Amino acid sequence: LTRLYGPITALSNVQVDVMTTLVSFERVIEVLDLKPTVADVPDARPLPEDLATTASVELDDVSFRYPAASEVSLASLESVARLQTEVPGTTLEHVSFTVPHGHLVALVGPSGAGKSTISALVARLYDVTGGTVRVGGQDVREVTQASLRDAIGIVSQDAHLFHDTIRANLLYARPGATDAELEQALRRAQIWDLVSRLPDGVDTVVGDRGYRLSGGERQRLAIARLLLKAPPIVVLDEATAHLDSESEAAVQRALAEALVGRTAIVIAHRLSTIREADSIVVLDRGRVVEQGTHEDLLAARGLYAELYETQYAPTAG
Ligand code: ATP
Repeated sequence: LTRLYGPITALSNVQVDVMTTLVSFERVIEVLDLKPTVADVPDARPLPEDLATTASVELDDVSFRYPAASEVSLASLESVARLQTEVPGTTLEHVSFTVPHGHLVALVGPSGAGKSTISALVARLYDVTGGTVRVGGQDVREVTQASLRDAIGIVSQDAHLFHDTIRANLLYARPGATDAELEQALRRAQIWDLVSRLPDGVDTVVGDRGYRLSGGERQRLAIARLLLKAPPIVVLDEATAHLDSESEAAVQRALAEALVGRTAIVIAHRLSTIREADSIVVLDRGRVVEQGTHEDLLAARGLYAELYETQYAPTAG
């Protein structure tokens, strides 16, 4: 019964959230599994079963413009709200890069460069206006959205939790998980110590009206959820919010766990993540301006070197 009513309670919370604080679009998608602007084609097929070993992601000459307000369905509340203040233009232009299976690609670039938009297109929250996004070699427009959602785990900056128990928040990612599996995921996400100290343990109610977790703790719980879901592909938006150094180190360790063996696209803000990336894609105003490893890009003395000197180097972590 809790499983039935849990999502309904959560749904009403989220609506209030959306109205009042304009939560990120991914967050609403992640929580509610909304399918607002795209639909399965009649002969859509699921992604291949062997994705765990073949999960590449490819953007092939992708261009994208956010739909104008009149084209947006009512479900995509954030888009509607943002369009009231933004003039839609071309957000991405001829973007191409490949993330081979098991690789980590870091997206970096100034605010508004299009990093979050790329992560939304990989999960097919919108359809591209030009070019093709492929997952495991398949055009994402030709596969079922259910299989795409199963294949991709998104951890956004401000992880949303249902107003429900920690257990319910985790089971949402994998309904059949045992207590031992929950504990293992919480341990790997560096949050078990905290959870086990709470009077009600995993049955503690969290969220705005429950036990208040800090930003870093919420993110670690979201990582535990990701570890339970175990998707072959991870899209991660690293937090920019300042975390205290202990929390920061714990989040870093949890992220490292979450990325092992997966194909990953990380909107990276930390130098440590960027340096570990197999490749760094540097975006500026919707275009890929540079691509390479940390060393290659520093030597090129372009936008990356500039960002490095002004943003990453002083906070090197
Ligand atoms: P930041 O680092 O600040 O998060 P970003 O590189 O992730 O920026 P995006 O959020 O992808 O950039 O935004 C790229 C452009 O698209 C910006 O001009 C932004 O204002 C616009 N944009 C983003 N989301 C929407 C939306 N839902 N509707 C309309 N325009 C949008």
